[in-house]
Amino acid sequence: MSKTVDVTVPDIGDFADVPVIEILVSKGEQVAVEQSLLTLESDKATIEIPSPVAGEVVELVVEVGSTVSEGSLIARIKASEEAGETTTSGPPGQTASATDTAPENSDHAGSGEAAVTSASAGPQSAAGGGQTEETPAAPAARETGGHEFDVLVLGSGPGGYTAAFRAADLGLKVALVERYPTLGGVCLNVGCIPSKTLLHTAQIIDEAAAMSRHGVQFGDPRIDLVKLGAFKDDVVGKLTGGLARMADMRKVEVIQGNGMFAGPHEVSVEHQGKTRTVGFGQAIIAVGSQSFELPGLPWGDPRLMDSTDALKLEEIPPRLLVIGGGIIGLEMACVYAALGSKVTVVELAKQLMPGADPDLLRPLQKRISKRYENIYLETRVTQVDVADDALVARFEGKDAPASDSFDRILVAVGRVPNGNRIAAEAAGVKVTDRGFIEVDNQMRTNMPHIFAIGDVIGQPMLAHKATHEGKVAAEVCAGEKSAFEARVIPSVAYTDPEVAWVGLTETEARQAGVKYEVGKLPWVASARALGIDRPEGFTKLLFDPETKRVLGAGIVGPHAGDLISEVALAIEMGCEAADIGLTIHPHPTLSESIAMAAEAFEGTITDLYQPKKKNRKA
Ligand code: NAD
Repeated sequence: MSKTVDVTVPDIGDFADVPVIEILVSKGEQVAVEQSLLTLESDKATIEIPSPVAGEVVELVVEVGSTVSEGSLIARIKASEEAGETTTSGPPGQTASATDTAPENSDHAGSGEAAVTSASAGPQSAAGGGQTEETPAAPAARETGGHEFDVLVLGSGPGGYTAAFRAADLGLKVALVERYPTLGGVCLNVGCIPSKTLLHTAQIIDEAAAMSRHGVQFGDPRIDLVKLGAFKDDVVGKLTGGLARMADMRKVEVIQGNGMFAGPHEVSVEHQGKTRTVGFGQAIIAVGSQSFELPGLPWGDPRLMDSTDALKLEEIPPRLLVIGGGIIGLEMACVYAALGSKVTVVELAKQLMPGADPDLLRPLQKRISKRYENIYLETRVTQVDVADDALVARFEGKDAPASDSFDRILVAVGRVPNGNRIAAEAAGVKVTDRGFIEVDNQMRTNMPHIFAIGDVIGQPMLAHKATHEGKVAAEVCAGEKSAFEARVIPSVAYTDPEVAWVGLTETEARQAGVKYEVGKLPWVASARALGIDRPEGFTKLLFDPETKRVLGAGIVGPHAGDLISEVALAIEMGCEAADIGLTIHPHPTLSESIAMAAEAFEGTITDLYQPKKKNRKA
């Protein structure tokens, strides 16, 4: 006999008295399990409430404009016979209806909140009906062996929280151990997110100044450092708060404290003098990396900063020295130069950002050479002396003076993995002398039930690599046959102009003797680039001359970091030049430059004149 189920609002986080903005079903309608019944909209998020059962809607208790909170009755549904007496919940996480954007990939402030809504339609939707039974979602190959948790994730950066959430969505009981009070790791708290927030501010300052060329004059910016810092902290808070709520909704137990392995199935977590031993069936190590502290420098002096210190924005130093012309050094140089510091950059290698092709760096170098006091290549800092009113750096290099004085110094010479800080040997996990942990393509360490992901397994140390690895590890923990099989991982420096590259670089191709041909679109031929007054950029694609498949790309110019994804997809899909060139790109956009670069390779381009292009098509 079928029975009528009271459908109530499930756990929707901190939201209360949320208005119903849309009713998606009508009385008498047959609905499926997890079919959305209605939409709620708070000032922060849009939330769809799914049906916990299949059956007929016999009554809708609310209407558009009604306000509801967790537990409010919204509808009555007569469960269908097929559904049986017991209703089932769908696989947790499959019903995500709102934006399911990973926080670190989003630069709009509310994304953390929006992400919460997708979670709310996940496992909690089962509880919404009040009469459903919990059903494990995945045929998990559990190795709990009676341990407290199926999976323990050590570290809550983008890799760690993604792994924890994915594992929970697959029905596993998960603990997420984090030494700091907020989730999100370096990326959200003291890395990608705060730096990109400040880089946006820097961009607006620079663009406002550039408007004078267009006949629009703004006054000099007046910078309230406290307010700027508060905005940045607010962005971080929204995202990390969103993570905490999503962990809660997924029933992931967050354990604060410093975790160290105590055995093959145990981590001891120390927090404020107390130690808790946590047992696990499987573990995922996601402990990341930390800034490399150049030895011999006066690290006790607060004017000597690493990237975390620099993001605190304690002051705008009149003269700033940046040691290390890599991505972190150049991004922070960009921020401080826009805020008013006179910046000097010292780089050990022959070029800035040594991983990128030299031609990609040229527009950036040209722009910052005019804006920064000095850029010293092939130069090292041998010593920093502390004076009352300055830090005095001594240089060794071809163009640098013997020494110079600075108000602050930022050291950004790379990061070192944290593999040696977790007593991995207690679990039998091998760690290299440099602190890396080796894994296979399923992210398994030498101990088959322990996985590692993110910075701790090696370069490139990038959040977007870690998140993908986190999903693989979680899925393998749940018994799925996942593997990390990405062909390429894009790199982006969010400098001005942005520099982005993916796949094979020209430097790598030459070193490896790989045959390639270039299709290039200088942005001086892009209407959009001219309109935004940034014709210095370019888009180049590398193709296999035989198969015409795209092998790699480099883009320099505003939004290069957003544009590069198209080429990453093209490489993953094995696209040929014609696939890209014949895809209609909207005009006028910077994205057209990718299609045009493919056309330039094909010889079909009309927006450039290429008299000697041998393979120009008739
Ligand atoms: P990095 O390795 O990218 O750059 C460090 C730079 O410092 C190199 O160019 C190196 O040649 C130089 N260097 C090393 N020793 C030096 C010395 N003694 N004097 C002068 N220069 C020296 O490291 P990073 O910029 O610190 O970034 C660390 C990691 O974080 C990298 O893996 C990077 O990819 C990642 N990261 C990525 C992003 C992003 O994706 N936008 C942002 C920040 C950091």
